[in-house]
Amino acid sequence: MNKKTLRDVELKGKRVIMRVDFNVPVKEGVIKDDTRIQGALASIKYVIEQGGKLILMSHMGRPDEKGITGDTTMKIVADYLGKLLGKEIVFVADCAAADAEVAAMKDGDIVMLENTRYHKEEQAKCKQKDGESDEDFKARKAALKDQQKELAKKLASYGDIFCNDAFGTAHRAHASTAVITKYIGTSVSGFLLEKEIEYLGNAVENPVRPFVAILGGAKVSDKLAVVKNLLNKVDTLIIGGGMAYTFLKAMGHQIGNSLCEDDQLEYAKEMLASAKEKGVNFLLPVDTVVADKFDAEANTQIVGQDIPEGWMGLDIGPQTVELYSNAIKSAKTVVWNGPMGVFEMEKFNKGTFGVCAAVAEVKANGGISIIGGGDSVAAVNKSGLAPKMSHISTGGGASLEYLEGKELPGVVSLNDK
Ligand code: AMP
Repeated sequence: MNKKTLRDVELKGKRVIMRVDFNVPVKEGVIKDDTRIQGALASIKYVIEQGGKLILMSHMGRPDEKGITGDTTMKIVADYLGKLLGKEIVFVADCAAADAEVAAMKDGDIVMLENTRYHKEEQAKCKQKDGESDEDFKARKAALKDQQKELAKKLASYGDIFCNDAFGTAHRAHASTAVITKYIGTSVSGFLLEKEIEYLGNAVENPVRPFVAILGGAKVSDKLAVVKNLLNKVDTLIIGGGMAYTFLKAMGHQIGNSLCEDDQLEYAKEMLASAKEKGVNFLLPVDTVVADKFDAEANTQIVGQDIPEGWMGLDIGPQTVELYSNAIKSAKTVVWNGPMGVFEMEKFNKGTFGVCAAVAEVKANGGISIIGGGDSVAAVNKSGLAPKMSHISTGGGASLEYLEGKELPGVVSLNDK
């Protein structure tokens, strides 16, 4: 990566304000999954060991939509992290009012700020209201952006160095992820962010071939830009999940009641033609597990590429699993984002777990396997095959935007090496 990291700067005695992704699931005050906290530990420990003063900040949940609730306070994470590190963590109940606590810090101390999204200007999201004139909307938006700058300045004032280790929000230009870099002298990457960008960056820009990408999930429209960008990079593109049926319909197949986005049919045709022109092996399901309703107890059967009236495709069939697995196993680089079917229901999980098993062989064969966040990560964890993957991304949205070829504001704003 061409961005500076924590290793490139002197930390002794310095105040390091670090954006982490502590957006963990919490229920009734209890953290249900601490993967994201564990992921940030390397950077946290490094700053402390080097004698820095560490100020941590993150968002959790969507307090702006639900109102401030007990389960979105960072105090829960501060207590948890304190126990994990065996160290007192000073919690500050307003992320923009930490002057006294930061001034009192000694080398090696940790302060954790309250949820940054308790301030609406962190995201500065702004939608035109019904009946609001264009002019009023513009003015409101500009005022919110000004407030965002003020919050970013305030957060910047707590540090000598900004460190971004939150890959999960790196695709957002928020006060604490990107705007802050305008108001602080030094901005570097943490180790987690560095690792994410190295894996994804190498895979996309410099892949060891054959390079196979697997895309699944519900909607084509969510992955339009990803398909388009990846067609310029991959040797094989594998499509599964609900998004496959729009492509099959575009090819002239019957798809029954399966998910379909009719407004994307033209796009699907263009992509199929583009794959042909570029010589990309574009794989679609050759058989499908269909159901008579969207239900865990539905009647099912396996059909070919045409789905009978009254039935819907909810998983790829066994021949498709074999076809996809063979393509995957011969790859040297694999990127996977999105399940092959409705894997939450047992009757429709074999496609996703079959693909998962094939992806798990890539690393053992000397290749690189990258799981791109979201539901594919849940499937990999559920299968117990997580240790066999080269890299499991901590950010679904961010990794998708990266695969689209977009620059991530939380990365580009850091200092170059
Ligand atoms: P996404 O958020 O786009 O990655 O989509 C994930 C969701 O797609 C999961 O909840 C799956 O159950 C769902 N999904 C996958 N395949 C299908 C399908 N054939 N029909 C309906 N939903 C599907």
